[in-house]
Amino acid sequence: MPYLVCSAQGCVYNEGMCCCKGDIQIGGEHAVCKDETCCDSFIERRSESAKNSMGTPSQKIEVDCKAGCCVYNKDCVCHADRIDISGVNACTCQQTACQTFVKEN
Ligand code: SF4
Repeated sequence: MPYLVCSAQGCVYNEGMCCCKGDIQIGGEHAVCKDETCCDSFIERRSESAKNSMGTPSQKIEVDCKAGCCVYNKDCVCHADRIDISGVNACTCQQTACQTFVKEN
């Protein structure tokens, strides 16, 4: 399971750059670069109170990933030691990306 650092602090599941969801889905079936991936589990936080009911943040997380061209992807599961999700100002999942994506040769 990767160690996850997520910058998308506008997501309901984000607490202090960690994720409270328990598992996440990364999209980008045809991705050949980082920007073509995204966190499909992103849900925009519309109020501060939404934050409290989303569970406990964890540093390690189960990551299902559709980006089959990434070197870390094995059978749609991420095997990287650590992943970084970008999207500081993201309001939609398309504005997030997996910065750890490395295209296999
Ligand atoms: S590192 Fe690769 S396999 Fe892991 S989540 Fe990012 S794109 Fe998917």
